Amino acid sequence: MNTPTSGRCTLVGAGPGDPELLTLKAVKAIAHATLLLVDDLVNDAVLAHASPTARIVHVGKRGGCKSTPQAFIDKLMITAVQEGEQVVRLKGGDPFIFGRGGEEVEHLRTAGIDVEVVNGITSGLAGMSSLGAPLTHREHAHGVVFVTGHAKPGDTGTDWAQLAATARQAKLTLVIYMGVSSLEHIGQGLLCNLPAQTPVAVVQNASLPTQRQALTTLGELVHTAQREQLESPSIIVVGDVVQGARAWAAQTQSSQRAA
Ligand code: SAH
Repeated sequence: MNTPTSGRCTLVGAGPGDPELLTLKAVKAIAHATLLLVDDLVNDAVLAHASPTARIVHVGKRGGCKSTPQAFIDKLMITAVQEGEQVVRLKGGDPFIFGRGGEEVEHLRTAGIDVEVVNGITSGLAGMSSLGAPLTHREHAHGVVFVTGHAKPGDTGTDWAQLAATARQAKLTLVIYMGVSSLEHIGQGLLCNLPAQTPVAVVQNASLPTQRQALTTLGELVHTAQREQLESPSIIVVGDVVQGARAWAAQTQSSQRAA
């Protein structure tokens, strides 16, 4: 008698976009999947690792469709695991940095399903590294805060002025996700307790060939983003570590001129 294969679910971080930033563990999980549920910000190139017989379902807003309701995705995952499928839930960046990975795991565990999580490189980290600068630095930043610019409906959201005061006092880098549509509000709040000349980097499509970025200051942030037409998906990095990106950009430009 054949024993039915037991279903499994793995939440896999697909990284910021560049398929070479996938972990080996992610590649293995993708290759073994019989069903892949793919989020919006996942680069389709990572699906090259999937089995030709795997079913691939895009559950994001791509193609102008409304995104699939979370409850539907949860139900789909649970049913598929119960039917013996090897389910991989592919999420952009790291599954546990925003993007509701935590909620998905809770729902699956409540349904009695064990979930494995495979980390991915989060876009905040990749974006800053692509500018040649770190998020922490012994001289400039003693820590880093990953924060969302997009509050849950009904939630008052982050107190930006308070966060700015903490960042200034504790020397913290702020990495803001989902912030471009609320730049004015975020900027105003941060300016209550951080100087207007605080360096800021905005990186759109980090790690992809379409990456664009701007180095600016808190005082100029809104103006720069408008002028450069920086849009979602972008990360915004606020803090003195951005000086490292400026220095790197200046050095690259001068070596290009010399060549
Ligand atoms: N789990 C993801 C974040 C999901 S929230 C991660 O770890 O990266 C979605 C937000 O992530 C976007 O609004 C944007 O702020 C950021 N983001 C995702 N991919 C990005 C990319 N390639 N470049 C810049 N920002 C990105």
